[in-house]
Amino acid sequence: MTIQIPRGTQDILPGQVEAWQWIEEKTRDICQKYQYKEIRTPIFEQTELFQRGVGESTDIVQKEMYTFKDRGDRSLTLRPEGTAPVVRSFVENKLYGQPNQPVKLYYVGPMFRYERPQAGRYRQFVQFGVEALGSQDPAIDAEVIALAMEVYKSLGLKRLKVVINSLGDPTSRKAHREALIQHFKPKINEFCLDCQNRLERNPLRILDCKKDRDHELIKNAPSILTFLNEESTQYFEKVKDYLQLLQIDFEVDATLVRGLDYYNHTAFEIMSEAEGFGAITTLCGGGRYNGLVEQFGGPSAPGIGFALSMERLLAAMKAEGIELPINEHLDCYIVALGEEAKDYSVALLQQLRQAGFSAERDYISRKLKAQFKAAERMQAAYTAILGEDELKAGTITVKKMENGEQTVLSLNNFIEAFTELCK
Ligand code: ATP
Ligand code: MG
Repeated sequence: MTIQIPRGTQDILPGQVEAWQWIEEKTRDICQKYQYKEIRTPIFEQTELFQRGVGESTDIVQKEMYTFKDRGDRSLTLRPEGTAPVVRSFVENKLYGQPNQPVKLYYVGPMFRYERPQAGRYRQFVQFGVEALGSQDPAIDAEVIALAMEVYKSLGLKRLKVVINSLGDPTSRKAHREALIQHFKPKINEFCLDCQNRLERNPLRILDCKKDRDHELIKNAPSILTFLNEESTQYFEKVKDYLQLLQIDFEVDATLVRGLDYYNHTAFEIMSEAEGFGAITTLCGGGRYNGLVEQFGGPSAPGIGFALSMERLLAAMKAEGIELPINEHLDCYIVALGEEAKDYSVALLQQLRQAGFSAERDYISRKLKAQFKAAERMQAAYTAILGEDELKAGTITVKKMENGEQTVLSLNNFIEAFTELCK
């Protein structure tokens, strides 16, 4: 019996991994510009962290977590998202006491959710996300959205749409919640079982239901925006003003609610409008979560962040036909002929590498022609040919692959001469 990769996961092979590395590097550079610092938290956490931090009524906690008992009988969960772990760490390490405030963090790493695998939906996927903790300035809401947009734009994506909404503060939400319950109650039996359970626990979540999204009651549900109090309205206006200042086009969608329980005020998504991207168009989701830090025993420190997955980013790039200018070339391939030359090439190869060149030689006893073929396949800029005669004469012939130009160098100062040649 052959063993296969688990459902909903993927191997990222050489040839594919370069794009991932490229994107990761781009995002790190952008985070540096925006002054977000990397944080690395464990892959697993106490289950309770997500139950409390993500919310009991969410799909994630209800049916998507990889939860297991360790040998010490502790309930642990492979992290399904990054915000709760970051907030835990922020509280546990008292980052709120640091002189630099707000604390601006980013993470890149695998997340795990037991989902039905399909295009753009995996059981292990890599999220890049940022969190800004300790500021309630609407300018930082705009900054976070701008950062996400810069990531996509820097990779050449054009068919993007920013959708924003405000979920208001707890007071505004309470009134809205009541209105939603009144709205759905009479016909709740026309909805899926999940939604029937959501009615009393978290009716807002009904608006996010994937099964009932076309029900007329969802389409004409009372809008949160009409329930916002003065303060929440002003906050939302400011965020929109700043986005305009940053020349980021956006749409307001009053039915946009995020899948997690802890959001308030700003909620946003970035969608791909590229043709052929498929049914799942959300690339990135985020929003404000004032109160979450307090819920984990920290001081009152408001937060905002987003998460995007590399998998959907790559899918969007594919849909827009974007190729990254990835160049995995090799500086020098040593073609060695005869036992002595082969032995000699072992040390030569090492010298090249120590001098900072990427270098390779044959390891499977190829004939001359096949060694050249290998050098071509590896896109070697130069081949260095070492035969018995050369070795005797103390020389090596270097061939520039681009134009076939050959130069004979002395083995004595090969590295210096090769370095000179490459300039
Ligand atoms: P969806 O509505 O698509 O299930 P979500 O609300 O569960 O998304 P978040 O938890 O906000 O998504 O995660 C942020 C981003 O992570 C999403 O916008 C999406 O790009 C990506 N993402 C979420 N789940 C997956 C998955 N299973 N596979 C790949 N990417 C994912
Ligand atoms: Mg989901």
